[in-house]
Amino acid sequence: MSEKRTEISELGEFGLIDHLNSTVVIKNPGTVKGIGDDAAVIEAGDHVKVVTTDLLLERVHFDLSYAPLTHVGFKAVAVNISDVAAMNAIPKQITVSIALSNRFSVEAVDALYEGINAACEHYGVDLVGGDTTASRGGLVISVTAIGEAQKEQITYRSGAKVNDILCVTGDLGSALVGLQILEREKQVFLANPDMRPDLEKYTVVTGRQLRPDARMDIIHEMRELGIVPTSMMDISDGLASEIFHICKASGVGATIYEDKLPIDKQTFDTAVELNLDPITCVLNGGEDYELLFTIDQKDFAKLEKHSDIHFIGHITKPEEGKFLVTKSGTAVQLKAQGWKHF
Ligand code: ADP
Ligand code: MG
Repeated sequence: MSEKRTEISELGEFGLIDHLNSTVVIKNPGTVKGIGDDAAVIEAGDHVKVVTTDLLLERVHFDLSYAPLTHVGFKAVAVNISDVAAMNAIPKQITVSIALSNRFSVEAVDALYEGINAACEHYGVDLVGGDTTASRGGLVISVTAIGEAQKEQITYRSGAKVNDILCVTGDLGSALVGLQILEREKQVFLANPDMRPDLEKYTVVTGRQLRPDARMDIIHEMRELGIVPTSMMDISDGLASEIFHICKASGVGATIYEDKLPIDKQTFDTAVELNLDPITCVLNGGEDYELLFTIDQKDFAKLEKHSDIHFIGHITKPEEGKFLVTKSGTAVQLKAQGWKHF
């Protein structure tokens, strides 16, 4: 009799995490939230700590033929800070673990840490430890971030209520379009090494791919305004996929409007140049690291004039489903294509 073998692709990334979560038993009352949100939440005296970790692998998450090591270091920190921001917490410490092959010199590691240290400075966090080991493959970087907040300030994916307003920060789709440009130029270079890639025109999109910035600025601004979103997460896998997460965790539906979706001019033009549908890039592009959150209607007036927060739709009853209303007024079912790792 052959043993049963299930392919990971049958479950997908989120299915696999759910599967693993079903085997986990929480024993400590201080564990406020375990697996299932952007970060875990842990009791710490009069406040709570949040903890999140992300793993970046060369050739899976970054390509050193076009990503400078300094940017890779910055990004490895920023993507974790983004998950701390998504909990409405303030980041305080990080640990950094690296695996290196002998392809890397001390100067290369210095370049990586230049980016890591720049991110620590930028987000006001301390690098407090990590681990260093050898790798037979490429470079591996794992960062863990720790943040803190008052328990009532923590925002989960599960708090969205019917009639809440769906908000996103910044603009979307740029990181995916940037990746396509970098990949295209890499292929051109490989085919003809004498060709110098002309990336001048694309600095916004390539910058968003290579060196994203976590939206701690928005977290601080909302604190000053006394706003606690009812739910929040960061957009790492694409807007549509993240809306599905919020809806599933909160037991609600959502309607969003195509004409409210924020896209940068350069991202739009470059998507068209690449024969990509700009709206598909906004809905399904990964790695933008903007924030998706919901607010109670009573807080709308306080954010209404904010130039970098966009009100893209609202929360509905679960039976109303998840819809995108197109510019022509047609409601189409939202699909969560997202960023597939498997
Ligand atoms: P994000 O995109 O915000 O980093 P993920 O989709 O990676 O979140 O993870 C969702 C949740 O699953 C988080 O709570 C994360 O800690 C948890 N998680 C992911 N992978 C594992 C794993 N291998 N074992 C336990 N928990 C995991
Ligand atoms: Mg996240």
